[in-house]
Amino acid sequence: MKNVAILGSTGSIGTQTIDVLRANPDDFSLVAISAGSNIGMLEEQIREFHPKLCAVWDEDKAKELSKAISDVTPTCKIVSSMDGLIELASIPESDILITAVVGMIGITPTIAAIKAGKDIGLANKETLVTAGHIIISLAKEMGVSILPVDSEHSAIFQCLNGERENNIDKILLTASGGPFRGKTRDELADVTLEMALKHPNWSMGRKITIDSATMVNKGLEVIEAKWLFGVTPSQIEVVVQPQSIIHSMVQFDDGAVIAQLGTPDMRLPIQYALYYPKRVFLKGDRLDFSTLSEITFSKPDMDTFLGLKYAYKAIEIGGSMPTVLNAANEYAVARFLNKEIKFLEIYEMIDYCMSCHKNIDSPTVDQILDTEQWVYETIKSKWSL
Ligand code: NDP
Ligand code: MG
Repeated sequence: MKNVAILGSTGSIGTQTIDVLRANPDDFSLVAISAGSNIGMLEEQIREFHPKLCAVWDEDKAKELSKAISDVTPTCKIVSSMDGLIELASIPESDILITAVVGMIGITPTIAAIKAGKDIGLANKETLVTAGHIIISLAKEMGVSILPVDSEHSAIFQCLNGERENNIDKILLTASGGPFRGKTRDELADVTLEMALKHPNWSMGRKITIDSATMVNKGLEVIEAKWLFGVTPSQIEVVVQPQSIIHSMVQFDDGAVIAQLGTPDMRLPIQYALYYPKRVFLKGDRLDFSTLSEITFSKPDMDTFLGLKYAYKAIEIGGSMPTVLNAANEYAVARFLNKEIKFLEIYEMIDYCMSCHKNIDSPTVDQILDTEQWVYETIKSKWSL
């Protein structure tokens, strides 16, 4: 029996993690859950799974939730704000923390979990993008495993099974290309929020869906892959594969390419991280090669989808630059989701912040969080938002 805590249990990854736990009650116990403010869903999760602890970011909502579950036994302790998320991340009863929260808010709780010796099922890529140098060395020091949940990184992780002694020549990181694949820069000028939220293959949270449309997501994934697999950025090649059948590939020194394929279903990488190294039955569709008509490949258009170009630049510079890329993107996407800016302004905001940032080598957590604030202030004053 493995005890699981989830940071962000009400979101797309969080609820799919819960689906996996629900399907395997003899193997897992859910000991702690959390969300930003969705206490309606948290209440349902408490009544179904009886976790010991529930963290709600919003303090007023936490109080409301306490009242709403006053009849539930055994009792569930409700905590709030960052202290609450840290308490959840390091709860003594858990074996693994699934980081299913969105954004840099995940940094501090993830570090707390590693310090408490918890394995990490990592979906929250923004944490690794901004604090990868801290997280990876701390995980080594503490002897904890960082198990990728992002589908591409899970695929690479699966391709590397039994290959630890062998050199990776390159990682072939696949990308669907998002809803705007094939569009020109002019055509992107007037795309709407509704258009950007229509991902062709995956149903995901709103922020990552926009990141897929800009291809910033793929850029963040390049950085994530660098930290997870210890390769250089030049060893990571992005390959557009619009059907999302190949989830990524690894090429070895002898020229052999190993790929992981499957239908687009996030429960597979979530379940793989939870059960690693075991594979168990997962209900759902299977690939049918008799009807699968084609798997096609092309190069990403980095001059139109600048997200990828900026990410390669940020990781080449290193230090605090990936934080600038990520924080500017988080801020810009939040504004785009609010319909306050246009699609291409997401790139403009990232570019502006990266071009005027004084880079810090090997930033501490405090410096990363200060850089995040600097980015927000810089955008607010330049765009009068
Ligand atoms: P969602 O927006 O669907 O869910 C985000 C979760 O984080 C929700 O539970 C939300 O709570 C919670 N949350 C937000 N703010 C806070 C806060 N301040 N404190 C505590 N909890 C908070 O996101 P996704 O599930 O799509 O993505 C989660 C992460 O996984 C992201 O980093 C994403 O890039 C990554 N990922 C997602 C994939 C997917 O298929 N969705 C695929 C690969 C990676 P509330 O409901 O209250 O807002
Ligand atoms: Mg992915």
